[in-house]
Amino acid sequence: MAKKTEEYFVPRYKATRTCAVVCDLCQKEKSYPRDVSDWSTNSYDVSEVIVSMNLGTAYPECYWGEITSFHICPECFENKLIPWFHVNGNAPTVEEYDG
Ligand SMILES: [Zn+2]
Repeated sequence: MAKKTEEYFVPRYKATRTCAVVCDLCQKEKSYPRDVSDWSTNSYDVSEVIVSMNLGTAYPECYWGEITSFHICPECFENKLIPWFHVNGNAPTVEEYDG
């Protein structure tokens, strides 16, 4: 019986992934979010908060810019950010969706 061998790859690299997001206002932590804006507690929930500004330049062949953001949990969005806008005379835009 002949011995057969084959080559295979052994991972030898270190990668990073987001293991938690932390609210900038109340320090609430959400472990293993789908992305940095995800605060959902189960796989069917949608609970996403995005507070960011993207400034840059985009040409057809290249682009650059800078994204400035805050990581805020849904409770702080509702209980701190919306009231702040209300105090300054603004109401949020609310859009419903389904599919
Ligand atoms: Zn919060």
